[in-house]
Amino acid sequence: MNIILLGPPGAGKGTQAARLVEKRDMIQLSTGDMLRAAKTSGTEMGKKVAEVMDRGELVTDEIVIGLIREQLEGDKKGGFIFDGFPRTLAQADALGELLSEFGEDLGAVIEMQVDDEVLVDRIVGRAAEAVAAGKTARADDNAESLKIRLMEYYKKTSPLIGYYHAKGELTSIDGLASMDEVEASIAKVLG
Ligand code: ADP
Repeated sequence: MNIILLGPPGAGKGTQAARLVEKRDMIQLSTGDMLRAAKTSGTEMGKKVAEVMDRGELVTDEIVIGLIREQLEGDKKGGFIFDGFPRTLAQADALGELLSEFGEDLGAVIEMQVDDEVLVDRIVGRAAEAVAAGKTARADDNAESLKIRLMEYYKKTSPLIGYYHAKGELTSIDGLASMDEVEASIAKVLG
């Protein structure tokens, strides 16, 4: 089954996607991870997106749609988990078209609901943990970029909740519950 994990930054999409990869042999397609990989490998595209990402703004639809298209051409194993994609209505439309082109469908769109205060604490905590572990924190895990990331989410991504609700594909779950409880809610949706 192919699913979308929808939710603001810090909602726990990546954590849950990793569990689905482990337990259900699904494939995690995180556009954020792909873009960060492009950034570190210093490709032309990576250079182009670096500043935009660090500021906390969205990169162009064209770039992320291209990245997703490449991945759909590969093995689908237990199904795709779209993590951090789509983030705009144009991306949602493009995903619909790509899926039908590849003969795939969307099994579920799972919205992970969380409060803003928790998001800020989680992300600031994640940055502090990285530093404590001697790693570098994500360039966009700082108060200023986070504010922009949240605003981008509300302006551009949250309309997808209505979009998928209207299509009858949305299930909303409590993203504030423990990681195991969230995992169980997702398992219920997947059946
Ligand atoms: P988070 O959900 O924690 O903000 P991600 O790793 O999903 O982090 O994304 C990090 C950054 O990568 C975003 O702030 C944005 O700049 C870029 N990005 C990721 N996915 C998309 C997308 N689908 N469309 C546009 N930009 C994206």
